[in-house]
Amino acid sequence: MQAIQILQTGGPEALTLRELPTPTPGPSEALIRIEAAGVNFIDVYFREGRYPAQLPYTLGQEAAGIIIALGPDTSEDFKVGDRVAWCSIPGTYAQLALVPVSRLVHVPDAISMQQAAAAMLQGMTAHYLAHSAYSIRPGDEVLVHAGAGGTGLLLTQIAKSLGARVFTTVSNEEKAELSRTAGADEIILYTREDFAAAVKRLAPAGLHAVYDSVGKTTFDQSLSILRPRGTMVLFGASSGPVPPFDLIRLSQVGSLYVTRPSLKDYIASREELEQRAGDVLSSVADGSLNLRIEHVYPLADAIHAHQDLEGRKTTGKLLLIP
Ligand code: NDP
Repeated sequence: MQAIQILQTGGPEALTLRELPTPTPGPSEALIRIEAAGVNFIDVYFREGRYPAQLPYTLGQEAAGIIIALGPDTSEDFKVGDRVAWCSIPGTYAQLALVPVSRLVHVPDAISMQQAAAAMLQGMTAHYLAHSAYSIRPGDEVLVHAGAGGTGLLLTQIAKSLGARVFTTVSNEEKAELSRTAGADEIILYTREDFAAAVKRLAPAGLHAVYDSVGKTTFDQSLSILRPRGTMVLFGASSGPVPPFDLIRLSQVGSLYVTRPSLKDYIASREELEQRAGDVLSSVADGSLNLRIEHVYPLADAIHAHQDLEGRKTTGKLLLIP
């Protein structure tokens, strides 16, 4: 089978197309023929070496496909031929993958395999951020950085559906328009005006929560626009990691809360995975959550997908087709 691996960490050129043996499913595992794999920022962190991995390493943590074989001791809920999707299991930039059946969910008939692959990681992330990491209540004022990004567009829609007044930051007009279509109330072009000054003008009492995936370049200003006892949800580092932080600062700026959540901890149990995936996939199926699949690349073109994602050229989901 073909797969994209890194033999050493580095830039997009480190992505290498390789021919690998067909894997055999072990106990409680399914062998899946991948139909579409999602590209996510976490793949960039692994490629760069920001997150450690044993080399050679097959990138990718999200896909949808068809079960073609099952190992011993697999649950009767899954059969050969089933349409399934999963995320947070490495090895999806490939034609085939081995996945523990406990991490699979069924893809509803009303959803295409590309939609399923596109919804799992960013969709469940947006879901846990809005429902669980900070639980949005009607009337809350919240900011979503990278509002026209893959996760940002979904988080904006879910935050709106929960009754929030949603602020977003974006870098250009085209992204502003997409963020508006997703339902954002106040869109700030941070390349033209200081986003913290704009938020202070529009919401003088401060925000209930900031969802910050940009990290290094936004963290300090994000803290400064929270209301007393507001919550900073730092969930990514697209611009680089936030430097070490003295917790006493939180008491000096209004007894703030800071959390640094990770999707895996919000889908850790089978019950929570099923509930979150079920909510997200049914919202995609009934049209209440609009997925923007922006670009579909052949597997062999993974380098271009990474260049586009890191180059801030993308506004939605990127998929690889093996
Ligand atoms: P996006 O589609 O949001 O792409 C990143 C966007 O961030 C860019 O388009 C750009 O938007 C903005 N950005 C700002 N500064 C930079 C920079 N220096 N370099 C690159 N981009 C920058 O990506 P994803 O939706 O895939 O991921 C968004 C973030 O969410 C990532 O940080 C990722 O790690 C995180 N994440 C965290 C999860 C968790 O559970 N903790 C799970 C899933 C994602 P603009 O041009 O408008 O500035």
